[in-house]
Amino acid sequence: MKVYKFGGASVKDAQSVKNVAKIINQHAEGQLIVVVSAMGKTTNALEKLTEAYFSQNNNETDDIFNSIKEFHIGIARELFPENHVAFNTIEQRFYHLYYYLKEPPGKNYNFEYDRIVSTGEFVSTEIISHYLSFNGMKNQWFDATGLIITDANYRDANIDWLKTENAIKNRILSFFKKNASESNPIAITQGFIGGTNQGFVTTLGREGSDYTAAIIAYALKAGEVVIWKDVPGLLNADPKVFEKTRLLENISYQEAIELAYYGATVIHPKTLKPLIKKNIPLKVKSFFNPAGEGSIINQEFINDNQYPSYILKTNQVLLSIFPKDFSFIAEQNLSRIFSEFARAGIKINLMQNSALSFSVCFDEDKIKTPVLLKNLEKIYNLKYNKGVELITVRHYEKVNLSELLEGKEILMEQKNRTTFQWVVKKRQPVIN
Ligand code: ASP
Repeated sequence: MKVYKFGGASVKDAQSVKNVAKIINQHAEGQLIVVVSAMGKTTNALEKLTEAYFSQNNNETDDIFNSIKEFHIGIARELFPENHVAFNTIEQRFYHLYYYLKEPPGKNYNFEYDRIVSTGEFVSTEIISHYLSFNGMKNQWFDATGLIITDANYRDANIDWLKTENAIKNRILSFFKKNASESNPIAITQGFIGGTNQGFVTTLGREGSDYTAAIIAYALKAGEVVIWKDVPGLLNADPKVFEKTRLLENISYQEAIELAYYGATVIHPKTLKPLIKKNIPLKVKSFFNPAGEGSIINQEFINDNQYPSYILKTNQVLLSIFPKDFSFIAEQNLSRIFSEFARAGIKINLMQNSALSFSVCFDEDKIKTPVLLKNLEKIYNLKYNKGVELITVRHYEKVNLSELLEGKEILMEQKNRTTFQWVVKKRQPVIN
């Protein structure tokens, strides 16, 4: 049994949907569960729709709604003959959303968000399920609200593992049992979405579809999860930022967690935990080149230091905190500082202390940062730089560091056996 996950970029237009069907057809042996995200940038568009609806901007709501609906119908027109039943399914999905948007919103923004934004995954999986059937590929569409059972923490829902495991086993395994005579039965469901005990739709946080694939694999103890992407596999740096990137053919779960922690965006950080628990390998492959090897993440760590990995985080704040009474930065001050960070909901990316100061680097946030600074200012003297960068290099031994840091002014650096990090700002040109 395998779990395949296709993200937004892999289903961004009709041609891509055809490619996904081809991959499923050619590469699946045995039982397959397919997890799919919303098409292209639909989730972003639905977020805008939620904002327009919540602020009761009716014209904007209608405009965004129409363009999202048209986008999906346009794709369907290229996939199906006129009058195909897929058009009724799409119409129905948008009909429900249309009438939902005509009612005034409730007070809970996150609840409304999940109700509206989940439309992207629902309609995307409906189109793909119809397209697979249309091409003779036996499949069953599953509503993820009945598979991934969560609490009511809308927009960032937490999994109820026991109920989820039971629901997935009951529904998906009985589908496979019923279709035991089929050589390739396919179960298809939405990524990113769950449901409360009462049946209200929830979401698991942006980019949450990888996590869904891992949860399903965990519940069914699948043989592997494959995430299909527009890159050849896991790369040692973001190709949009760094010129020469290399494919990491095989890294350990631990290395992947470290990379995600330092800010590599290729895998949703929550994804690995359920896979580690059941020792399920995670593959990352290219949907442009399905025959390519891609990358594999598993228990093996012998190749972890084969290549250095580079991670760049921009838009950072470097804050230095000084006790007003010149007391040492010791336990009491530290616990006070940490609790202010926790209260503001800010995650620390790097920290360092001396006797009289504590320096912290974290992501700038228009809302959270001013709250933190205001609260800390009451007790401490502060100095800070905004708009700085955090560069992290894992396995830095063979890296030409002076080349990497050329033209940067180092504000802080930290090093351990595997990882080197710098907070830097671009050096101003010297004018004579
Ligand atoms: N569609 C959702 C997003 O864009 C979830 C996902 O793609 O993983 O964040």
